[in-house]
Amino acid sequence: MPNLDWLTDIPRTTLGHWPTPLEPLPNLSRELGGPTIWLKRDDCSGLATGGNKTRKLEYLIGAAVADRADTIITFGAVQSNHARQTAAAAAKVGLDCHLILIRLVAHSSPNYESGGNILLDSLFGAQLHFLDAHEDVKAYTKNLLARLTASGKKVYSIPTGGSNHIGALGYVQCAEEIIEQCEAQKICANTIIHASSSAGTQAGLLFGLSCLNSQIRVIGINVYHSDPSSLHKAVAALGSTLMERYGDLAEVKSPGQVEINHAYFGEGYGQPTQETIQAIHTVAESEGILFDPVYSGKALAATIDQINIGNFADEQDIILIHTGGAAVLNVYHQNLGYK
Ligand SMILES: *Cc1c(COP(=O)(O)O)cnc(C)c1O
Repeated sequence: MPNLDWLTDIPRTTLGHWPTPLEPLPNLSRELGGPTIWLKRDDCSGLATGGNKTRKLEYLIGAAVADRADTIITFGAVQSNHARQTAAAAAKVGLDCHLILIRLVAHSSPNYESGGNILLDSLFGAQLHFLDAHEDVKAYTKNLLARLTASGKKVYSIPTGGSNHIGALGYVQCAEEIIEQCEAQKICANTIIHASSSAGTQAGLLFGLSCLNSQIRVIGINVYHSDPSSLHKAVAALGSTLMERYGDLAEVKSPGQVEINHAYFGEGYGQPTQETIQAIHTVAESEGILFDPVYSGKALAATIDQINIGNFADEQDIILIHTGGAAVLNVYHQNLGYK
């Protein structure tokens, strides 16, 4: 029998509040007249305005502590939610934190490099390194690492989005949390939808569901890769790595079936579509819940559209994972239609 017993032996530092709620969206579900939408509230993870990186960071910070590191380095776009949650996690555990933030998104907001997540990164005491998109991140990082090491620091490096075989364990564990909540709340879900970009969330969920013998389908809404096949490849590759590392322990035969939907990507990473903006307004007004224009709002728009075009049966339960991101809202106020 596949299992998740092996997961409890892996170092983990508690950073969040678990389980996050799995709650219905009654007003939106009624308005759309289709399946019941259950929102998995990972935006309420409890760390620094929340988000999906908290789960990954519990294992990554766990590994850093086991490694006796005193300094964390990680990477992201300027308004990275991952960078903000890493900064908060490092603050909580007492580690120094360096964020390498790359200018990937064309924007017109005057506070793009000072508001939103950047304000929070600064509050958590992280050191920020801004790089232009054309700059050599590898060379810069090598240099920074050399400087930190020379000054006696022991550095632990976390990849973009926390998406490696360690970070993904956060979503392996989340698969179990979802299955337990479905049983306890008598929810019969056959689909999970979420915004997907650096592959850790999707690969972790798929592997976790595989370990639990679950047939639930996972649809990753691509928000990052202009070529969706590169996201498909990244999720499949991380799935293979999880198989190599834990497949025998978990007694699973497959890391799960990768499914990517590219229809809601719009013009690019960090560029919300009209449907994204509309979806954010709709659910703020009808449910009092904040989604973001870069990630969760695109997954929300996808969910609404998939229901409207009849791709889910009415009697079905579907789960939308709210992966967080609302900390960026105040640098997107023009996109949202405000001055
Ligand atoms: C990082 C992030 C995602 C995507 O998760 P991946 O594991 O990188 O695919 C989705 N939503 C939000 C708000 C994020 O910050």
